[in-house]
Amino acid sequence: MSDSDSPSVHKDFVRQIIDGDNDSGKWGGVVHTRFPPEPNGYLHIGHAKAICLNFGIAEEYGGKCNLRFDDTNPEKEEVEYVESIKADIRWLGFDWEDRLFFASDYFEQLYQWAEQLITDGNAYVCSLPLEEIRSGRGTPSEPGTDSPYRSRSVEENLDLFRRMRAGEFDEGDHVLRAKIDMGHQVMLLRDPIMYRIRKVEHHRTGDQWCIYPTYDFTHGQSDSIEGITHSICTLEFENRRPLYDWYCDTLGIHHPQQIEFNRLNLTYTMMSKRRLLLLVNEGHVDGWDDPRMPTLSGLRRRGYTPASIRSLCTKVGVTKHNAMADLVLLENEIRDELNKSADRRMAVLNPIKVTITNYPEGQTEELDAVNNPEDESAGSRKVTFGRELYIERDDFMENPPRKFFRLGIGREVRLRWAYFITCTDVVKDDDGNITEILCTYDPETKGGDAPDGRKVKATMHWVSVDTAVDATVHLYDPLFTKEDVDDVEDESLDWKSNLNPDSRKTVTGKLEQALAGSESGYRCQFERLGYFIVEQSSQPDALVFNRIVTLKDAWAKANKKK
Ligand code: ATP
Ligand code: MG
Repeated sequence: MSDSDSPSVHKDFVRQIIDGDNDSGKWGGVVHTRFPPEPNGYLHIGHAKAICLNFGIAEEYGGKCNLRFDDTNPEKEEVEYVESIKADIRWLGFDWEDRLFFASDYFEQLYQWAEQLITDGNAYVCSLPLEEIRSGRGTPSEPGTDSPYRSRSVEENLDLFRRMRAGEFDEGDHVLRAKIDMGHQVMLLRDPIMYRIRKVEHHRTGDQWCIYPTYDFTHGQSDSIEGITHSICTLEFENRRPLYDWYCDTLGIHHPQQIEFNRLNLTYTMMSKRRLLLLVNEGHVDGWDDPRMPTLSGLRRRGYTPASIRSLCTKVGVTKHNAMADLVLLENEIRDELNKSADRRMAVLNPIKVTITNYPEGQTEELDAVNNPEDESAGSRKVTFGRELYIERDDFMENPPRKFFRLGIGREVRLRWAYFITCTDVVKDDDGNITEILCTYDPETKGGDAPDGRKVKATMHWVSVDTAVDATVHLYDPLFTKEDVDDVEDESLDWKSNLNPDSRKTVTGKLEQALAGSESGYRCQFERLGYFIVEQSSQPDALVFNRIVTLKDAWAKANKKK
């Protein structure tokens, strides 16, 4: 018995509908879903929710899930996007097997169905300008007005439609409309457009077509052709369902059940492909896969794992209400995963030199450092200790306030895996800036414990000057400074003013020698600083690290206080 059969597991409303259908035998026990991206951009983490839902349900119910590109809009679609979408779905861990489809493969069938609707008196060629078609639809409280072309004969409609296909007319001369009801309560059913003349090439059909079907005249029929049972989509399609149903019923074809669920929205994040494209084109980010982007390719480069993204999608669940999920939920997924699996390493990102004045010059020693306290099997490594070290500048204060427990003159702290050190003095340049910190160490405290049982209030990370490896380290923070920047409907919204100017800071870090030559994709924790990944383009002799996430949710808290 799989989880989905177990009555003890709480099920979301989509799975409850499927259970109900399986009980009533509505689809004969078949569960067939699809994920239908439009190839006009890269997939983002919102899409991941739809992917996990559609492919996940197919897996749970022993069904199938198709990948279908909804490529009815010839202009904005590109092969680059098709390939990236396929790679991203595979990376997430799902497989459409041999069921890769394109709505454009159905153009001929859709055309035949359009002729069928014309022949049955259910569609007509309308020659009003688009503006008049729009104004003629009325308002929610007032009915629309019939187009003067509504009463064209079947013969005339067929003739005009065939000549539209043959390219005899210019764009905007005619459209094909469904003949439903200009007074219908649902505005969308007031004779919606089925076909437009577009004299543009399509990325798959080339110049074969100069008329293109609308989304509404394509989507349900594509589902129907593929034998989809549950056509799962986001809430904004709820108002289109009556039209989806009308086309399937009027054509008398297999009629899948459309089910709508809530989109994933994340704080400090933008999910609209249109706006993400602007970020790319206007150079606010380096590309679709910039590690700050909410795209799957960006998150991958940032260091997120497929498991962390799938887990988020499961946890936010599906409902009928749009809401905002906290970005921290996603960050906590990767924190939890990497806490268990990632090596701990020491790296100093804002270095200041420490000289241990009572440590013999020229001497070094190798100390044992545990790789992962959460995983004994990860073992340990050696770190080199010597007279000259780097520590974080922030870990020292000349005149520390009461609550500052780290290093200050006369204070003793522990260096991780090494010794207790006590600060005796500082060296300053002519401008009074501290350039070096002078300390003594207690040889009795090797390994980090004092035999007399005395305690220190801080344990600090460090790297020895002699063995330090330089690396470029990108410190990423959210792209936006405002929690809610995703109101795509609001055209007047000055959303770019909320871009975070400090979303990327780049520093040169001093890393412990175990990190020399790290391979791209390697993830580890820099102790006390966060989780990091070696950038995909990184070379062994010129290391580049990306910060995946800090250890705690410090950014959002600090940002909220501002
Ligand atoms: P966007 O609004 O970001 O441009 P879209 O809806 O136009 O995205 P599609 O390529 O049409 O993008 O989306 C493919 C599928 O992914 C659709 O079924 C859509 O409902 C779903 N989807 C898109 N965005 C989200 C989201 N934020 N959360 C959940 N599902 C989403
Ligand atoms: Mg869409």
